[in-house]
Amino acid sequence: MLDLARCRAWIEAVATAVAERKDELTELDAAIGDADHGANLHRGFTAVQAALGGDFAPETVGQALVKVGMTLISSVGGASGPLYGSAFRAMGKQLATPEADADQFALALRSGLDAVRALGAAAAGDKTMVDALGPAVTAFDDAVGKGLGFADAARAAAQAAEDGAKATVPLQARKGRASYLGERSIGHQDPGATSTALIFTALADVFR
Ligand code: ADP
Ligand code: MG
Ligand code: MG
Repeated sequence: MLDLARCRAWIEAVATAVAERKDELTELDAAIGDADHGANLHRGFTAVQAALGGDFAPETVGQALVKVGMTLISSVGGASGPLYGSAFRAMGKQLATPEADADQFALALRSGLDAVRALGAAAAGDKTMVDALGPAVTAFDDAVGKGLGFADAARAAAQAAEDGAKATVPLQARKGRASYLGERSIGHQDPGATSTALIFTALADVFR
């Protein structure tokens, strides 16, 4: 079950991991982009921490995630802001109950992936965050289908996202800034796929 406390802990863990790994994310982006992915996400999740603090008192996990999404959209200039923002917002809109069980969360994740695809038009293998997000959503779904609980499903999703991010190394980018490099984008791990893995690892860690 993802209740509000766990949801807040998840987002807090993402913010902490982004702060810790922002230089690494920026270095990945320096190789095939414009060296700002770590800074972009750090700005975004710092704004998210502020937005979820103070007197914001969501009643559902969905309201909290919509807030996360709106804040990312308004605070991050790079491509990743609107993409992650749309994903969190779409997930939140799907979750109208105070807590989300694994089945509900699987549907929400699917909505998040659909939102990223609708906005960015990236397919599997285009060397984007979709190459981590897609496998993570499928792994979560499969785990839930097998009757596993939230914790195990989140762990499977994190592993799939991690594997998906690593598998972007040999790919040539076909979407986003990295695509401007053509074949020179080959041999580098996609920054957005890497941050997607970080987000799912943070989710799994909340259930440890
Ligand atoms: P920008 O490229 O605007 O500087 P960021 O550096 O923050 O933005 O984010 C780059 C990441 O965004 C890429 O590594 C990739 O994973 C993701 N990305 C870029 N364009 C797309 C797209 N059209 N669809 C999905 N993901 C994308
Ligand atoms: Mg960039
Ligand atoms: Mg940029």
